Amino acid sequence: MLRLGLIGGLSWESSALYYRLINEGVRGALGGLHSAECLLFSVDFADVEAMQAEGRWDDAAKLLADAARVLEGAGADVLLLCTNTMHRVADEIQAAVAIPLLHLADATARAALGAGLTRVGLLGTAFTMEQDFYVGRLRGHGLDVIVPGQADRALVHRVIYEELCLGVIREESRVQYRRVIDELVASGAEGVILGCTEIELLVSQEDCAVPVLPTTRLHAEAAVRLAVAPLAS
Ligand code: GLU
Repeated sequence: MLRLGLIGGLSWESSALYYRLINEGVRGALGGLHSAECLLFSVDFADVEAMQAEGRWDDAAKLLADAARVLEGAGADVLLLCTNTMHRVADEIQAAVAIPLLHLADATARAALGAGLTRVGLLGTAFTMEQDFYVGRLRGHGLDVIVPGQADRALVHRVIYEELCLGVIREESRVQYRRVIDELVASGAEGVILGCTEIELLVSQEDCAVPVLPTTRLHAEAAVRLAVAPLAS
């Protein structure tokens, strides 16, 4: 089995979900008492959030590249960056190590295309919805990506940082997210990407009339497929 190296703490609320999903996935694939071989480098999210808010992406890249080097040195075979937003600096992280980084947007795009979707809605942080590093990567796979309007992007972003990353799940926010999702569907979205690793703590397939693409689950499943592949033959 390949050893997975997780860069987490972004936030730890979703890293905990990654850990569960990866272990459930390995048990599902190999049975019995099998569980994942994995390493987790969990950063202090307060530091990273300050860098994001101040646009200090180079500092964030350095911090996460250092984490990647530690995981590589500890024996990781593959890296997962357990956040959509920080894929803003995925290239810098990949450049710091010789082992591959399993890019979250690629895993998501493959799942969307595999489900026969071409036009997808995207929810995430403002960085993810508004900058090119994520939307552009999805478009590079041939997907047509739509995002909510400005006021709803601000709402989705606020709920992530002020609630979900703090472990706060509020019904009022779920209702708001449902409305935003409905509007994306009304605008032609055939599927909706939950493009922040905490969003699937708040909403699920039940909250959406079209298929949802939960990025934490999709990333974890892609990692498990890769990790167990050497044992699968
Ligand atoms: N986990 C979130 C994401 O997937 C947001 C937290 C962060 O900014 O890293 O984008």
